[in-house]
Amino acid sequence: MASCSQDYSFGPHLIRRTEVFAETPLSFAFVNLKPVVPGHVLVSSKRVEPRFTNLSGSEVADLWKLAQDVGRAVEKHFGATSLTLAIQDGQHAGQSVPHVHVHILPRRRGDFEKNDDVYDAIDGASKQLTRSGGAAAATGEKLDLDAQRRIRTPDEMAAEAAELSVLFQ
Ligand code: AMP
Repeated sequence: MASCSQDYSFGPHLIRRTEVFAETPLSFAFVNLKPVVPGHVLVSSKRVEPRFTNLSGSEVADLWKLAQDVGRAVEKHFGATSLTLAIQDGQHAGQSVPHVHVHILPRRRGDFEKNDDVYDAIDGASKQLTRSGGAAAATGEKLDLDAQRRIRTPDEMAAEAAELSVLFQ
């Protein structure tokens, strides 16, 4: 069971408490419907605010502290050696969910043929999201992203959140 006590809004979406694995006074961390690499998770402000640039100083500090803690935990848990942390702040920067969130991706040597392809993957995956459909694999990546990028079931997401929540108790 994930340790979180309540559901949260993520833009127009409902994030069930079972999908949340860590929270702070102003932020929460949850598993991704469609991760582009194993352990690709999200950290969001509790307040539904589309733009990072509109968060208060306290919200920014709280968000990035949780992102740091989550990054450290998922890097170790997924046996990775590096991290990508990214925010698409606004529609024309690729944001598809209008609610501030930090993407946190455990990284390892050679996981993408070109290192910066990770940004195309983050951008492309969210644009192809539907609850019922799948995604085409991006070209040129070494991981089996066809398999990794499919939309996950609530049970799969809850299982991963439960696994990660143990790291934050
Ligand atoms: P962006 O395009 O930067 O706004 O990223 C949106 C992210 O939210 C993508 O990584 C999606 O896979 C993820 N996402 C969208 N809907 C949900 C949801 N209901 N639960 C969890 N993750 C989601």
